[in-house]
Amino acid sequence: MARGVVPRQPAKSGRQEGTRRVGRGQSVRVAAVSARKGKTHAFKKGDAKLVVVKAKAPKPAKVRPPTPKDYNPVAPERVQAILKHLDALYPAAVCALHHRTAWELLVATILSAQSTDANVNRVTPILFQKYPTVQDFAALNPEQLEPDVRSTGFFRNKSKSVVGAAKKIVADFGGEVPQEMEQLLTLPGVARKTANVVLGSWFGKGVGIVVDTHVHRISRRWEFTKHDDPPKIEQDLMKIIPQQRWILFSHQVIHHGRNLCLARNPKCADCPIEPLCHAEDKTWTTVEVHKGAKA
Ligand code: SF4
Repeated sequence: MARGVVPRQPAKSGRQEGTRRVGRGQSVRVAAVSARKGKTHAFKKGDAKLVVVKAKAPKPAKVRPPTPKDYNPVAPERVQAILKHLDALYPAAVCALHHRTAWELLVATILSAQSTDANVNRVTPILFQKYPTVQDFAALNPEQLEPDVRSTGFFRNKSKSVVGAAKKIVADFGGEVPQEMEQLLTLPGVARKTANVVLGSWFGKGVGIVVDTHVHRISRRWEFTKHDDPPKIEQDLMKIIPQQRWILFSHQVIHHGRNLCLARNPKCADCPIEPLCHAEDKTWTTVEVHKGAKA
């Protein structure tokens, strides 16, 4: 110890430098910081108590796993993982349009354009009671059908399509809905989506994938396609989804689109597929989001 330097002695008064007497015989160190406990003790003038101010915990940095450089959205492992989740979520997904025959399913699918399945399901029981067979529809002119399908929207076009399809089925296919894609596509108002619904859900033929509004949106969110055109989306999906899954896949995706992956405000926090999804319009995410993957 250096000469002349005297170690500090406790004050005889009992009051140490840096302390103030508060309350009855209580003394606290002003703004003493207990680094070990992570707390700051501060004394306020006029207070008789020791005020403890908790130090703010530092915000945890957002950790998002980086995208691997070789990330491939259509890698078979990723596609399989998504299919596995769909199986767990919707093991028995089926067509939501009520029908008893191929003809009824064809009519219901034509009416479902720009409408909800629930709305179509309200209309069709009355419609098929009034016109039970395809021959009954074939005997109509479109204007006669319009009042019965008005509530499904676009009723003039839909009436023309249904009556036109009925006339063609009676004239060219012996009153039976054809079972081949090429033949179905010759019917008025029938494009690949409607043909795929009838072939898949009635005839059990998976010759294509139904691309409706839900399949369109979700395929883009999952980066299964970059296209906006349904036939091109279908082609992209057919390349990566195993053919034996084509019928079920569209039913499952349609269910997912109705339950969780909504067009606006998808319920990403509740979605088990979330860690695999990089959609730009996710509402919650634990992974890096890619530009260009939005619906
Ligand atoms: S995480 Fe969100 S956007 Fe992605 S599939 Fe699930 S609900 Fe859809």
